[in-house]
Amino acid sequence: MAEAREILTEIFPPQVIDSDLAEVGRRLFAREARFVAGASEASALLHDTLPEIAFAGRSNVGKSSLLNALTGRRALARTSNTPGRTRQINFFDLGARLMLVDLPGYGYAEAPKTEVRRWTALLRGYLRTRTALRRVCLLVDSRRGITEIDHPMMQMLDASGVSYQIVLTKTDKLGACELALVAERTAAELVAHAAAHPEIHLTSAFKGPGIAALRATLGSFALAAEEPSTVVLRGRPQ
Ligand code: GDP
Repeated sequence: MAEAREILTEIFPPQVIDSDLAEVGRRLFAREARFVAGASEASALLHDTLPEIAFAGRSNVGKSSLLNALTGRRALARTSNTPGRTRQINFFDLGARLMLVDLPGYGYAEAPKTEVRRWTALLRGYLRTRTALRRVCLLVDSRRGITEIDHPMMQMLDASGVSYQIVLTKTDKLGACELALVAERTAAELVAHAAAHPEIHLTSAFKGPGIAALRATLGSFALAAEEPSTVVLRGRPQ
């Protein structure tokens, strides 16, 4: 088992974190995270004043749990056993350095069609117009890997030219060998997606070092301490 973990970190380098970056990430996510606003229609979206990282994934993928684990808060984002409950875009200010954006979960079979259309339009509008959006973390349940339910979202991200990366969730439910297989399969699938970042993060909201590694990656997008947080951001970095 230990050997499989070592292979995993060799194949998927984001799991191995530079200690300086880890410290930047740790400090950033130790700052206060607070809910700022929820938008259920485009007109209610906040002006973008901070670099943004958005979190997307099918309902029940573990998105709320991951946001809570990253920020060290028990109930920043509401977790639920009722899939499809989050139906708006929620904005969380992280210490006036970074905006964490919780996008509505998709793929909930029982969601009414009009509702699905509404949030698809909201999401498309958000992705196309958001100049402060630095990256989308696309959460995928490690037990399933990418499925056809994720394809429309990946196509939307590719079409919008928004850089996104896969974050595998609930990795505590798999053994190291199974995890290595799903991670390799996922990496192979990403090759065909123009806007997908090749790095894959392996996380468990309940345990594991993946949270620190993800904090370190996201820390590189935050405003530096000396930068004013009220500037209106323009353009996306390469
Ligand atoms: P969301 O609908 O994507 O926000 O998903 P939630 O965060 O509400 O999680 C859905 C279910 O998965 C809940 O029962 C959580 O307890 C469970 N879950 C979330 N993250 C993990 C994890 O890292 N490990 C395990 N074993 N279960 C998790």
